[in-house]
Amino acid sequence: MKIICVGRNYLAHAKELKNDLPEEPVIFLKPDSSLLTRNKDFYIPSVSENIHYEVEIVIKICSLGKNIQKKFAGKYYNEIAIGIDFTARDIQDKLKSKGLPWALAKGFDGAAPISDFVNISNFKNIKNLNFKLNKNDEVVQNGNTSLMIFSFDHIIAFISKYFMIKTGDLIFTGTPAGVGPVKKGDKLEAFIEDKKMLVCNVK
Ligand code: ZN
Repeated sequence: MKIICVGRNYLAHAKELKNDLPEEPVIFLKPDSSLLTRNKDFYIPSVSENIHYEVEIVIKICSLGKNIQKKFAGKYYNEIAIGIDFTARDIQDKLKSKGLPWALAKGFDGAAPISDFVNISNFKNIKNLNFKLNKNDEVVQNGNTSLMIFSFDHIIAFISKYFMIKTGDLIFTGTPAGVGPVKKGDKLEAFIEDKKMLVCNVK
């Protein structure tokens, strides 16, 4: 199983980190050891002084494929979840400034909490889906999938030119604006529409 992530997929977030707008999706990977399921606590890793939350819709691949055309991409996922792409911003900034890969900033243990998956038939239109993140009962991020620069289908078509996608692979599809730091004792709660899907206590 692999975890594929898309960076800079929401205009306002790309701007808040002062990034250029991408012409192609920015792709990075997290190792399977970064997954955190069943609302387990997140422990801040000793390697970073500045861990940021990034709430994201996650899609789960349900079929093996390669070189998938965009018009057929919808057949390759049927479940979604909400997740947090925890990022060691201090490490990422250092790596970015040297033009180095982000693996250490994005792939540490616990860097990928995800909710249970829900079949997409439960939603009216996943291309127009509200999601949000609360930190200590205050809304800190608000997104809607209609605001993605690259759609789910575009992402799958693009990724599958490079990687064969397999059943069970996960794709984090990018974060809206409002990312920020966490500290010990914070409580994060992620929602799709009005349904609380994920709770993550920071330790
Ligand atoms: Zn992200």
